[in-house]
Formats: sequence, structure tokens, C-alpha cells
Amino acid sequence: MRPRIRAEKGPKKGSSHGLLIAILILTALVPVAVMVVLGLLGLPVWLLILLAALFTPAGGTALQLTVSILCYIGIAAASLFSKTVRSDMARIRWNPFNCDAGEATASEKVSFYKGVPVFRPVINRSGSFALILFSKRDGVNDLKHERGHNWQLMLMGIATYAFAVAIPSPAMLGRWSKRGNYYGAPWEAIADFLGGAERTHNKVEAVNTGFYFAAGLLLVPAAFWWIRRRNTVRK
Ligand SMILES: [Zn+2]
Repeated sequence: MRPRIRAEKGPKKGSSHGLLIAILILTALVPVAVMVVLGLLGLPVWLLILLAALFTPAGGTALQLTVSILCYIGIAAASLFSKTVRSDMARIRWNPFNCDAGEATASEKVSFYKGVPVFRPVINRSGSFALILFSKRDGVNDLKHERGHNWQLMLMGIATYAFAVAIPSPAMLGRWSKRGNYYGAPWEAIADFLGGAERTHNKVEAVNTGFYFAAGLLLVPAAFWWIRRRNTVRK
């Protein structure tokens, strides 16, 4: 999601993002292991499936796949009636895995970027929850950032993403926005890392993202405890 205020602080981000992403992916597998153990203990299968759908990467990825496929079919149908939709999709050669953020941001109504549907309503701020609602005020770097949120959804699971990212992001929780550093918040910085957005983040922010991700994944309320704690530390 995009704020009105932006600030870029701290030293340039290092080359440790690959390692960070690897750690995040490994952490994301922990809930899956927990589900397997619980399953061996004989809990009802449906409950496990529900928990897996809400709190593990399996659910987040399944939602992303479903939304992407349904949107592609819907856009194909809409293209029969809309010349704009046809030209938008021709721009990316109807490739849902289009990797050219520039072509996606040049669209009028719809596009696809790295497997995720992009819609262009008249809004001031972009947002992402399986599909990207992309403001016409935003550019290539913003699209990369929003796409990073899709990685978060797939890695964290639906409910974890909703509580740990989709709520604090637009609500601008925490001290970061108040200090003009919206993208320094852990749920935002991690979207930058995962989406490949070019923005400077210092080491503290990078470490915070890892802890926040792990806390949110292992126990959703822990993410909010994290925000409170980070909010009350000595300035
Ligand atoms: Zn964001």
C-alpha cells in the first residue's frame, strides 16, 4: 500500500536479501511442520485443512492461484466487449507472467504482473490482497512493492497476512509513518525486499522484517505485540 509521505533513510541495502528471503521461506515452512505433527496426533482432518488454509503458505498460495486464474478468465471475457481491455492485454501479449512492470503500469484498466492480476481503478493509494488495485498515480517501483505483498500473502497464509499486513499497512500503525518513514515498518520493508523495489533500508529495518515475519507466522497476535513494543521503546 502506498502512503502520501515517503522518506528514504539509512545506508543502501546490502546484498543479504537472498539470504533473508531464504530464511523467510524456511520460517514459512514451520507452520506446515506443526500441522503435520498435529495430524499425527489424530485431530480432525477438516480442522487441519482449515488451519492450513488460514495460517500456512499452502492456503495463501492456493488463494493467489485461484484469484489469478479467475481474474484471467474474467479479463478474457471482458476483452470481448472492451477495446481498452484488449489493448491492455495485448500490451503484455496476454502473458499473465509478464515481468515488465513498465508495460503493466502503462495499462488503462487491467494487466498482469508476475502472475498477479492488476486493476486500475481511480484510487489515491494502491493496495494488494491476492490482486493488486493499482493507482494511476503510482509507478514501476510501487508496482514491485505491491507485488512484494503478494509474496507475503503466499508465504504467510491468508489470516496471518490479513492480521499482520493488510490491517497495519493502510492503518499506518506504529511509529514509522509518524516519523515520515512509512516504508520502514516491517510489513512494508519486507514487501520491498520480496518485490525487488528499489528503496533504501538500514540493517535495523532489515532485521525487524525477519523477526516480524517470524512472529506473525508463528503466532499472529505476536505481530501486534511487536508493534506495541516497537512503539513504546525509547526514542
Ligand atoms: Zn505496502
